[in-house]
Amino acid sequence: MSLSKQEIERYRRQLLLPEIGGQGQQRLKESKILVVGAGGLGCPILTYLAAAGAGHIHIVDADMVALSNLQRQALYTTEDIGKPKAECAARALAALNPEIEVSFTAEYLDAENAKDLVAGCVLVIEGVDRFAPRYLINEACRTEGVPLLSAAIGRFDGQIALFPMDEASACYRCLVPSPPEDAADCETEGVLGAVPGVVGSLAALEAMKYLTGMKGAMKNELLIYQGREGRLRRISVPKDPACPVCAAEVRA
Ligand SMILES: [Zn+2]
Repeated sequence: MSLSKQEIERYRRQLLLPEIGGQGQQRLKESKILVVGAGGLGCPILTYLAAAGAGHIHIVDADMVALSNLQRQALYTTEDIGKPKAECAARALAALNPEIEVSFTAEYLDAENAKDLVAGCVLVIEGVDRFAPRYLINEACRTEGVPLLSAAIGRFDGQIALFPMDEASACYRCLVPSPPEDAADCETEGVLGAVPGVVGSLAALEAMKYLTGMKGAMKNELLIYQGREGRLRRISVPKDPACPVCAAEVRA
């Protein structure tokens, strides 16, 4: 598979980077990525991945676009209100970059469909706002051995974590064994649109670093963004011997 003249022109600015180049671009083009959640985090994640030429993107989101989403979910327009987010996002990405394949599932990811959605992907990125689906996605990635990039925000802060899901890998449940009681929720706590914008953009960048095998890519690490302080910290996440998900995998 090679790059057409159109593609070379479209991706010129990133092809110039020695860390990407033709080889990195090919890797992006061959990538099959599942993005779960097309909300505040999903919008920048999807936009930058599609624009950069991630070849196959599948979007999962069951929600409809609401007026109160438009303050931060920049893929949608006022005309999209009441329509399925997954469908509107897929349409916007196809218009942004017709060189890539975009598909969608306008349903919730649940115990029934998680494995099928995750299987065969080179990376799963989740930016969901609840712990139940986040845990389900983590379990499916652990079982299928598919790398997981998890992104989350609360008020002015955010975090992303990347787990390669090989044998030695930690998982999201090693990091967060049970849902914190004070888990923030932007529906009740509020959020400034630029916060998921920043954190989603960080997630898109880390996804591209991982997909192209770039030096410095995150692996079993957590990146914490503190918006009020303007601070970014990177810490490693060890595998937890007591993690129920990793332990189940060892027994299997
Ligand atoms: Zn684990």
